Amino acid sequence: MKTILVTGGAGYIGSHTCVELLNENYNVIVVDNLCNSCEESLKRVERITGKNIKFYKIDCCKKRLLEKVFVENKIDAIIHFAGLKAVGESVKMPLEYYQNNLISTLNIIDLMRKHDVKSLVFSSSATVYGDPKSVPIYEDFDLKVTNPYGRTKLMLEDVLRDFANVNKDFNIALLRYFNPIGAHPSGLIGEDPNGIPNNLMPYITQVAIGKREFLGIFGNDYNTPDGTGVRDYVHVCDLARGHVLALKKLFTNSGLVTYNLGTGKGSSVLDVLKGMEKACGFEIKYKILERRPGDIAQCYASCDKAYKELGFKAQYSLEDMCRDSWNWQKNNPNGYKTKNKILVK
Ligand code: NAD
Ligand code: UDP
Repeated sequence: MKTILVTGGAGYIGSHTCVELLNENYNVIVVDNLCNSCEESLKRVERITGKNIKFYKIDCCKKRLLEKVFVENKIDAIIHFAGLKAVGESVKMPLEYYQNNLISTLNIIDLMRKHDVKSLVFSSSATVYGDPKSVPIYEDFDLKVTNPYGRTKLMLEDVLRDFANVNKDFNIALLRYFNPIGAHPSGLIGEDPNGIPNNLMPYITQVAIGKREFLGIFGNDYNTPDGTGVRDYVHVCDLARGHVLALKKLFTNSGLVTYNLGTGKGSSVLDVLKGMEKACGFEIKYKILERRPGDIAQCYASCDKAYKELGFKAQYSLEDMCRDSWNWQKNNPNGYKTKNKILVK
């Protein structure tokens, strides 16, 4: 049985990936400093799977503490989710983003080298493509970033490419996620943002549950079919499965590989809004606002490479994503802090 270290495993994508790993009979160790999550998510993962997770509350920037995990366990591979991820916040606090995202990842790579762990899956993002010349976006498109968060991802991709160039026995997957939404169909785990959500789906579900008055749609004058921004929304459970498929690829001694993980389909803000209205069975208030600075008109993936080389194909539709996001929000109106709720298994 292989042992996988999941950094940032208590977070949104990490917790769903832990479910997938445990269901595939991997041993799972999680390292998370809980700066954007809580341990309850891991308890829920254990409840969904009926299996245990070994948890270390450690900051990956603290190398000496992190090394303990490598000394105490025989690790076969690492999935490195730990990082700060809010674009707007990264513009306001660039140093925190560079420190956290760069140092944590450099520590991981160095400890992998020291303790002979040869396989790494790294969370990259579609943000490394900037404003693409055309859609769909292929992996060999030019890379260009416009904010500190994106720059941390591109810098780290560069670091990993340089490292892999001279360390041919290391296997590294750079996974560029498009827009993850949805939640585990059990309604037990999902996205639990702190404060006012920046992203579309958690904002819509908070309007639907009555926490926010209306959805502000950032512009309806883009060159897209209905004028609102188009993105490639992918169910977080599909994304989680993509990580397990990437791991299997690494175990064939693949060297460095790069994949887009999305659905290959673009949906507009209004498509998502309509999908959510169908899921909850009532209208959701919205207002058209100015464009959000830095937003692009459209962004969706070609997932042909991930399909050909990993067998990855998203299975969930936008309707499924909306249903599962709503199911999570409705069962957990205050995220993991919700008390006395009825949990549907
Ligand atoms: P998340 O914030 O829910 O999860 C990240 C986890 O990392 C959190 O549990 C946080 O507590 C932990 N963490 C942060 N810094 C840490 C550190 N120094 N040491 C230990 N733990 C630390 O975010 P997510 O949406 O699950 O994203 C996971 C990864 O995927 C991130 O690297 C993010 O940049 C990347 N990504 C996310 C999206 C998205 O839209 N959610 C899109 C593209 C890429
Ligand atoms: N969006 C919106 N209102 C919101 C949040 C997002 O209209 O409150 C739009 C945004 O302009 C973009 C799409 O929804 O077209 C997805 O935005 P999100 O921030 O979720 O992802 P990203 O822009 O990073 O792809």
